[in-house]
Amino acid sequence: MIPSLLIANRGEIAVRIIRTARRLGIRTIAVHSEADAKALFVREADEAHLVGPAAASESYLKIDRILEVAKRSGAAAIHPGYGFLSERAEFAEACEANGIIFVGPPASAIRAMGLKDAAKALVAQAGVPVVPGYHGAKQEPDFLRQKAYEIGYPVLIKAVAGGGGKGMRRVDRALDFEAALESAQREAQNAFGDGRVLVEKYVLSPRHVEVQVFADGHGNVVHLFERDCSLQRRHQKVIEEAPAPGMTAETREAMGRAAVEAARAVGYVGAGTVEFIADAREGLRPDRFFFMEMNTRLQVEHPVTEAITGLDLVELQLRVASGETLPFTQDDLRIQGHAAEARLYAEDPEKGFLPSTGRLWALRFPTGEGLRIDTGVVEGDEVTPFYDPMIAKVIAHGPDRETALSRLSSALAETRVAGPRTNVAFLKALADAPGFRAGDFDTGFIDRNLDALGAVERGVDETAVALGALRLLERDMKAASPRAGASSAWDGRDGFQLVGRREQVMPVVVDGTRHDVSVEWAVSGGDAAEADVAVRSGSVTERRLGRYRDLPEAGFVERGDGVYVLDGGRQTFVASFDPFAVDLEHLDAGDSIAAPMHGKLVALFVAAGDRVEKGQRLAVVEAMKMEHALLAPRDGVVAEVSGEPGTQVAEGARLVTLEAEAG
Ligand code: ADP
Repeated sequence: MIPSLLIANRGEIAVRIIRTARRLGIRTIAVHSEADAKALFVREADEAHLVGPAAASESYLKIDRILEVAKRSGAAAIHPGYGFLSERAEFAEACEANGIIFVGPPASAIRAMGLKDAAKALVAQAGVPVVPGYHGAKQEPDFLRQKAYEIGYPVLIKAVAGGGGKGMRRVDRALDFEAALESAQREAQNAFGDGRVLVEKYVLSPRHVEVQVFADGHGNVVHLFERDCSLQRRHQKVIEEAPAPGMTAETREAMGRAAVEAARAVGYVGAGTVEFIADAREGLRPDRFFFMEMNTRLQVEHPVTEAITGLDLVELQLRVASGETLPFTQDDLRIQGHAAEARLYAEDPEKGFLPSTGRLWALRFPTGEGLRIDTGVVEGDEVTPFYDPMIAKVIAHGPDRETALSRLSSALAETRVAGPRTNVAFLKALADAPGFRAGDFDTGFIDRNLDALGAVERGVDETAVALGALRLLERDMKAASPRAGASSAWDGRDGFQLVGRREQVMPVVVDGTRHDVSVEWAVSGGDAAEADVAVRSGSVTERRLGRYRDLPEAGFVERGDGVYVLDGGRQTFVASFDPFAVDLEHLDAGDSIAAPMHGKLVALFVAAGDRVEKGQRLAVVEAMKMEHALLAPRDGVVAEVSGEPGTQVAEGARLVTLEAEAG
């Protein structure tokens, strides 16, 4: 076994690799950016080295610096994790050239599968079915539009160098082709430095079923069954499970064989995934699935395969990299039960899944039978805007699908996050969704059910506001007692000193916006701590009687002058109103359009003097490799634009200002 391992990655996957390596007695070496100096994986590794500033292009993607650390620290091998350098053939070659083992396939296999067009040609030759389409070299818009016409709409434009759903656009009609092509090419150029695309038939009701393969350096190749990753949003996986619902023994056998063939065709070694697409309306038939691509690395969703096989895939990777033979044959492998994984993200489903950043004021996961949590952060850590905003993977295993999904659902219900917005309520709704439970879904399921899944702008949670205000009052009363009225955050605390009843309107700040609640006091004996208090927010009233606290303790997370109220996976931050803190009156004036987050301004479509219509696209900001369109909040005339396309913009930076409305 290799004696030492450098992990060229970060976050939960780095933590996960370090833990397995340590169990095998391997010395672990972390590399990290400035932003990750105090990260969990840095703390867990035996040693850690700074390789550059926050931007991944200056740190985690710097091959030279990482190799320099590897040599300096005497690392025998490098594990690239996923993302970053994991599928960069040059990196695998550079490792080899420096006498360091690359924990992954040979550079030649990465290269062969790296470009979707070449990969398709290669596996088709090996007899694996591929999706019909144009996979050639010509890239002229007119030519590609002609091809799309021949293939027949709807079509899918895909970046040849693509990954993670980037540079991919579904096009339903010729009219939209050119705009979609341009935006796919731009995104692909930015993300991969290669703007080339292919065009293929869009499968109308797609099921994404992928097969985990494993090969050693001695010619043995097996598959570890399939995963279903059809629950996707914007081509990104949200919940994955194994095995695939509706899979038959015959189709599993055919798909497994095709996956092994694809791996053999490129001389594969290590862990890899062969992705197939099938039409849900036809079911998973042994003759109706098509190769999409091969991912030449470990996948984010590998834990569900670990759960149903009882194997540790990272351990297997390290053994294979050390030259060992696979410790089993295909016939030794059996599926044990069912597993599902949900990706917990710092993002706001109520605001179009906008990534959310900031400090994790609370991060608590349940423990339980069949439950596994993979995370790279702990309570108190920051979710920064620099990397993928995944907080954790929640994985549940059980004897059957129903049990696994129920365990997943309960685990999500008991997960507590405060600070950044998260998709936890959305994930729970998804895990419970009847169509999904029935196994009746495809990759469009999420988009079709956004409302039912709660991914729509919902109003203020009045119950949470009332509870939060009550909690703040209670805090004040405790601080003030026994001398009523001291050090309260609000005016009107003379209410404490009254005997009898008194009602007053009190301003609070709810998620940054001013909000009035009304408070009714009933004090006897002048002791504030014993007051009966009722808080009304909108039509909801919450009360506290005397010194009895009936507030559900688990639902509150204190933060400075405010409190997070957690309720059904939603969070509401209620703070005392400080008239000098922010100019709240002008927050929602509707005249200015600001960057929703730190990112790069990639396009600005308007100039001063332009007339715009409500909902019109004004600018595009790219953050965390996703494009966010900024829309006009109302009809109007542009008074001013600020910001240069191609430059970074800060969260809240005003990009477009409309002329004030007449009257
Ligand atoms: P990436 O490498 O960017 O992840 P993939 O080729 O793996 O891209 O495709 C990602 C997802 O896009 C698939 O899981 C599937 O949902 C969808 N997809 C890909 N090809 C097609 C197609 N021809 N028709 C319909 N959906 C597709």
